[in-house]
Amino acid sequence: MTRREPIGYNSAIIRAETAVAQDPLKAYRDKRRADVTPEPSGKHSPRADDQPPVFVVQKHDASTLHYDFRLEIDGVLKSWAVPKGPSTDPRDKRLAVETEDHPLDYADFEGVIPQGEYGGGTVMVWDIGPYDNAKLDDDGEIEKSLAECWADGHLTVNLHGKKLSGGYALTHFRTEGNKRQWLLVKIDDEAADARRNPVSSEDSSVLSDRTTDEIASEADTSS
Ligand code: MN
Repeated sequence: MTRREPIGYNSAIIRAETAVAQDPLKAYRDKRRADVTPEPSGKHSPRADDQPPVFVVQKHDASTLHYDFRLEIDGVLKSWAVPKGPSTDPRDKRLAVETEDHPLDYADFEGVIPQGEYGGGTVMVWDIGPYDNAKLDDDGEIEKSLAECWADGHLTVNLHGKKLSGGYALTHFRTEGNKRQWLLVKIDDEAADARRNPVSSEDSSVLSDRTTDEIASEADTSS
């Protein structure tokens, strides 16, 4: 499959990088009102260098149910909305639409964003854990940084979660408007399992064991 970038794509990236260098989370903050929503505002600084980066999959029961797949890269959570959620079957190609960077402290956020606010709905931490860059050269060395792989539109990562593990590939295949669309595909390794379908069979939080309905009803009674 040949990939064609729209003309001007690189200059758009350079402009975006210039803006991002000043505040990578500006888009995130611009969409939220910190005084009325319970999500982290992203004030915390990045974690220590010696910790492995984190990945998270958050089930987001919003106007349209989807799963937010996020990878820590260079101090923020690079993010994609995956309508069908991740699969453990290497034959599945799951659409993953790039969304704005989120702050690191969003990774373990679980709760209810009020209706009418950006992302209004219930958020559950469906899976979380460390991950590593699996894009290695012939000598087993890391070929490119995660940030370079993200910019180039092709990431290969090893996930070490409770539900998801082993290799996953994320590949940019088209751009609609200013949104990069990627495909999330399980790599055919020992963690691949065509029969598991964890999105439906393992439908509770890895942090609190609650379903989205339980998170929503507990938020109702506490307010
Ligand atoms: Mn979302």
